Amino acid sequence: MDTQDDTNRHTGGCLCGNLRYEVKAPLKAVGACHCKQCRRWSGHYWASAECPIDKFRITRGADLLSWYVSSDFARRGFCKACGSALFWQADRHETWKDHIAVSAGSLDEPTNLRAEKHIFCQFKGDYYDLSDGLPQESTET
Ligand SMILES: [Zn+2]
Ligand SMILES: [Zn+2]
Repeated sequence: MDTQDDTNRHTGGCLCGNLRYEVKAPLKAVGACHCKQCRRWSGHYWASAECPIDKFRITRGADLLSWYVSSDFARRGFCKACGSALFWQADRHETWKDHIAVSAGSLDEPTNLRAEKHIFCQFKGDYYDLSDGLPQESTET
């Protein structure tokens, strides 16, 4: 059986290949965040998919995983060897702390996922347009 065709399991990793992870659950659809933090961090906008934290594990290179504390409730995980932006985790948020978001670009393919929506669209960059027809949400805060 080809495990990459199993929607209940996903694998992924960083650019240098030394940090690998596994998700043993169906991932939610991909969401794209256009907030300024995500744009600075990812280099464009941050596309990611969420899963319960207890279904997620690092399978290789755990010593390469660094966390940047990006707000008072969340942190961002990256490979300190190659700099790949990999994870967003609201580890100190009441509602979201049991989930982790993995970057869509780090997933092995086929992902069997689809992009679903854009969020924080009022902060999107001035150099691109959103014209893919997906829902565009703007958030107050
Ligand atoms: Zn790496
Ligand atoms: Zn964001």
